[in-house]
Amino acid sequence: MTSFLNHFNAPAWCHRLTHIPQHFVKLGNLNTPINEWSLPGVPSKFKVHIKRDDLTGSTLSGNKVRKLEFLFADAITRGCKHVITCGSIQSNFARTTAIAAAQLGLKCHLILRHPDIEYTTATKQTKDGPIQYKDCTANLPFDGNVLLDKMTGASVYLIPKASKYETDIKPRMEKLADHLKKETGEESYLVPVGGSNTTGLYGYLTAFQEMMDQGVLEQFDDIIFTCGSGGTAAGLAIGNYLNQSKIRIHAITICDNKDYFVEHINDTLRQIGLGDETSADDIIDIIDGYKGLGYGLSTDDELEFIYSVCRDTGIVLDPCYSGKGALGMLKELANNPDRFQGNRILFLHTGGTYGLFDGKMDSFLHKHKQSEPVIMWEKVEDLF
Ligand SMILES: *Cc1c(COP(=O)(O)O)cnc(C)c1O
Repeated sequence: MTSFLNHFNAPAWCHRLTHIPQHFVKLGNLNTPINEWSLPGVPSKFKVHIKRDDLTGSTLSGNKVRKLEFLFADAITRGCKHVITCGSIQSNFARTTAIAAAQLGLKCHLILRHPDIEYTTATKQTKDGPIQYKDCTANLPFDGNVLLDKMTGASVYLIPKASKYETDIKPRMEKLADHLKKETGEESYLVPVGGSNTTGLYGYLTAFQEMMDQGVLEQFDDIIFTCGSGGTAAGLAIGNYLNQSKIRIHAITICDNKDYFVEHINDTLRQIGLGDETSADDIIDIIDGYKGLGYGLSTDDELEFIYSVCRDTGIVLDPCYSGKGALGMLKELANNPDRFQGNRILFLHTGGTYGLFDGKMDSFLHKHKQSEPVIMWEKVEDLF
């Protein structure tokens, strides 16, 4: 497995950071292109381009691939044979981790939050008291990302949607690692939600270097994208800060809130040795207000937007992240134009395509697009 390791030459502007990875594994198809995007509804003063991080791969697509290049290198360097991570049932990060693990020969374990599971009253005794759970494994559809998780042979464990990382999920990841160690003698590598730690951070620090190589600093005034666990936001904001660039970074939240991400980025700054010189509020604009019904839930307006963007521009957004982010961007450009530093906008498409295949878009199209039906050829031929 060590044959997958490549020496990492960190950009010179990273050299004063305290945690610099020694290695990376090549997973992504980089560099990703930047194209003009004729997104309908953009106020005439602005011009929007799109950086296609949905094209970092096919099954290995989206922003998580960049983080995993450093996380898997760390796992391999440490001799781990298992990787354990977590997410929601349709997690893009879980799917990307499962595919990368299969490519690199590690065994993958996914602890996934599922909306149909609730712990209520007693059926099973634990040290914290009795819990009950509804077993929904039998009817679990292998759709969207879950299909790919299963195709890779990853072990999938379901927990309630309301589970919190620090109190519910992390202890389970540690317990599973202990169990695997006892059973197999092998070590596990634990990856926090979204891969957003100081190792995964290098995914978007190096993406910032890639963007500089592509001329982004000269060609754009603002970069905007969707924020879910904060790693992409931290990487781009810190890269932008260390280069003293004039670009302004904007992150649209689709879960938690601004305070949560400010704290995440401030924690990251402290961990890499920049805590005394800057803070999240100085280096990034975090935008709340576009969560809609909440994480993983979609309104008809959001699905209509994703549909119309695909129809009008051929860019496929996803319901959980990039759709909400792009819709939020349009609304901010229209209602809050002064929040942007200039009029040359770069939207970073963070991926998520497989989330489209979880059934929501299917039911939306059936319900609302009756005027654009699928037609039997035999029925129309008479009309021609
Ligand atoms: C995870 C994810 C994000 C959010 O990125 P973070 O680094 O976790 O904030 C955005 N878009 C898509 C498609 C994702 O899968």
